[in-house]
Amino acid sequence: MRGPEAARIFAAPMSQPNEIPLMEKIVSLCKRRGFIFQSSEIYGGINGFWDYGPLGAELRKNIRDCWWNDMVRRRDDIVGLESSIIMHPKVWEASGHVAGFNDPMVDCKVSKQRFRADQLFFAPIVVDEKIVSYVSALESEKTAEELQEKAETFKRKKAIQGKLAAVQPRDFTEAREDEIPLIPSPATGEPGSLTPPRAFNMMLQTYVGALRDDSAVAYLRPETAQGMFADFKAILDTGRVKIPFGIAQVGKSFRNEITPRNFIFRSREFEQMEMEYFISDEEDWAKWHRYWIDWCREWLISAGIPAAQLSEYNHPKEKLSHYSKGTTDLMFAFPFGVQELWGIAARGNFDLLQHAKFSGVPLEYFDDANKRRYVPHVIEPAVGVDRIMLAILCSAYCEDELADEKGKMETRVVLRFAPRIAPIKVAVFPLLKNKPELVEKAKAVRELLRPHMNSFYDDAGGIGRRYRRQDEIGTPFCVTIDFETLGEKGPELKDTVTLRYRDDARQERVKIGDLVGILLPQVQ
Ligand code: ATP
Repeated sequence: MRGPEAARIFAAPMSQPNEIPLMEKIVSLCKRRGFIFQSSEIYGGINGFWDYGPLGAELRKNIRDCWWNDMVRRRDDIVGLESSIIMHPKVWEASGHVAGFNDPMVDCKVSKQRFRADQLFFAPIVVDEKIVSYVSALESEKTAEELQEKAETFKRKKAIQGKLAAVQPRDFTEAREDEIPLIPSPATGEPGSLTPPRAFNMMLQTYVGALRDDSAVAYLRPETAQGMFADFKAILDTGRVKIPFGIAQVGKSFRNEITPRNFIFRSREFEQMEMEYFISDEEDWAKWHRYWIDWCREWLISAGIPAAQLSEYNHPKEKLSHYSKGTTDLMFAFPFGVQELWGIAARGNFDLLQHAKFSGVPLEYFDDANKRRYVPHVIEPAVGVDRIMLAILCSAYCEDELADEKGKMETRVVLRFAPRIAPIKVAVFPLLKNKPELVEKAKAVRELLRPHMNSFYDDAGGIGRRYRRQDEIGTPFCVTIDFETLGEKGPELKDTVTLRYRDDARQERVKIGDLVGILLPQVQ
């Protein structure tokens, strides 16, 4: 859910002073190892769009598959859906997106830059209880400090005597009309060029068919949720579903974000995993709301996100839309601040009523047992695949000290992905690549594992370097085929391999025949 929550941005965890910021390390690792590339990079890139390379594609597929399995396949009360990205334009009138899916936008008339008003912070500089000027800064993990520093610099440069008060940051949507001309543009540092905030509709438009007039305008969906409401009747008529039940969908959504930023956190094209859970209008909605908040939280933990990095944010009643009964965001401590990861909203029966009104088709449920017809209420957990991926990458990134083959301590970079999320589950190495028997055996072991899990064969470079390469991309297990495997160190070790664990670099000898049985339960 949208809405400026200034308090959220001032708590930022992680990286030590003088260290390369964690986000920079993650972005560079993602590029170097083929997780995430800037879209159309050879043309200079396009802002707000990302490509997922070989490892990124695997990681996203695992996130989607785990969510789908847990949300749909393992439950009896939830069914899946894949609705089209472009829907009848009336869908977006009914949902309120045409009139109200807006972000407040501010222009700087001098630099021609645009800002989201709720991400542009300002504060009066108050000396001896008198306002002497204003400072501004864009939202970051250090907005309050930045504003304070700017206020101190201003006072020093202008040689103003007196006591400077601590700055009280507000976002630009809260600026009074008389304050706007006094607030400096973050682009130029000078006041007088910022426009008052105005509504900017974030839906991306296109034309469907041969005509290019108003009758052909259509929208790329800004959320997947409306597909579930528009198909509610079709699913009721065909799906044998009984309330309470849910409809889940994974798919691309598009928003013309004013300021896409923080890597893949806010993009213009992204993927959502949403579920609409329909309950009786007489049911205790708060009970189900709590149930889904807890479910989502547990799911994130099972995907490798530490509980300590998660928190809950309840939207204040006065900021909720008129139909909403309650919205809670699961927040994650990203390196750039504590931000929304997963929104869980109790939306009442607003959406079904709106679509019934705009389409003329009643969207009701008939309760057979009580012979009662009603419009169900809904709880909606909505999350982005890209945002979960970023939270998983931030949680998994770790640098530790490990001894190399000669016992010398060295720093290694390791992604501690939960095995079920890791892009590659197991890497198989022959100890030496110039020994055909080792290579042949290693390839055979890889073929043995291939049907069960995503595996990788590597024979390039020293064994220590091969382990480090896998640590850096989060492969939880490595298997090395050595001379013991060939039976050269005694018959009792024949057909055994070294199984090496990523997290503690522990190694053990296991029989080739036991490998699938040992690994499969850990990666599923
Ligand atoms: P925000 O306040 O961060 O813009 P939102 O409240 O508008 O998000 P919702 O409409 O509730 O988001 O969308 C549900 C989920 O979809 C969000 O919790 C987030 O995980 C994801 N999401 C929304 N917008 C984006 C985006 N531009 N890029 C990536 N993921 C997004």
